[in-house]
Amino acid sequence: MSKPLFSLEVFPPKRTAPIGTIYDTLDGLHGVDPAFISVTYGTGKQSDRTITARIANTIRTEYGIPAVAHLTAQYLDRDQTDEALDMFAQAKVAAVLALRGDRNPEREPAGVFMHASDLTRYIRQTHPEITVYGACYPECHPQSRDLDEDISWLKVKVDAGASHLISQLFYDNADYLRFLDKARAAGIDVPIEAGIMPVTNAASVRRMTGMCSSKVPERLATILDRWGDDPNTLKEAGIIYASEQIADLVARGVDGIHLYTMNHPGVTRRIWQNVQGLF
Ligand code: FAD
Repeated sequence: MSKPLFSLEVFPPKRTAPIGTIYDTLDGLHGVDPAFISVTYGTGKQSDRTITARIANTIRTEYGIPAVAHLTAQYLDRDQTDEALDMFAQAKVAAVLALRGDRNPEREPAGVFMHASDLTRYIRQTHPEITVYGACYPECHPQSRDLDEDISWLKVKVDAGASHLISQLFYDNADYLRFLDKARAAGIDVPIEAGIMPVTNAASVRRMTGMCSSKVPERLATILDRWGDDPNTLKEAGIIYASEQIADLVARGVDGIHLYTMNHPGVTRRIWQNVQGLF
């Protein structure tokens, strides 16, 4: 059996913080050995392209780690998309994670890329040198009627050229394994990495799981109830929870683990120390 991948995600510093603070995150990850680090993308402003491309370039050139650039396209026209793709190609990214992005009811989509599969197809046609990754949702994307419908659109995305998938966060491995069975049965045969987001803060878990329509299993709810007001102990419990989730998934033969670092290098390092022998 081939070894699973281990990869990381970071996000650009907030607009109010200097871009140089990303070095605190990247320096703090020293000792962790990811197959790649992906860099998230904002909601379509001009500066998003530059910042994601700059950080991806930094990861590759200064840290020697392959970088994956996220791109959300529903608010972009073709010229803006080409500009972003050219920047990513110049940064020699290992892949672009092609996304639609979340809907903002106050903004009208540009009408060019209505779904991630449209962007995926476009990249494959216009920038064949760029590898395309895609997102997937073990507990179903909130806008889909059910998991079967969601997976049927996922298959369209893979057929359009997404050669690797990264999942949304989830806290119950049974949900991920059920999704994996259904995706394979639907003929989706590309590698699928499981997205793991360590719990570091009770309010942010409630907010993130609410946003993603992801459930908080009883075991995690108990932890949040017990230590929700004790951030240091909650962080310790979160590191154990994520490490156990990863060990179970790797034991079951998943293709890889994508750890959402939330720019908390200390937590990421601790988890890596726990699980590195599995990769
Ligand atoms: P799509 O694949 O387009 O799917 C969206 C919905 O439309 C689903 O319900 C799907 O089933 C349905 N659908 C798909 N194709 C069709 C079709 N042809 N016809 C009808 N229905 C269809 N957001 C950011 O803003 N920045 C980021 O950097 C970012 N990174 C992410 C990384 C990962 C790994 C994940 C899982 C999510 C990320 N997101 C990010 C969030 C993402 O933008 C949202 O989840 C968004 O709502 C959906 O994006 P998508 O690319 O999965 O959309």
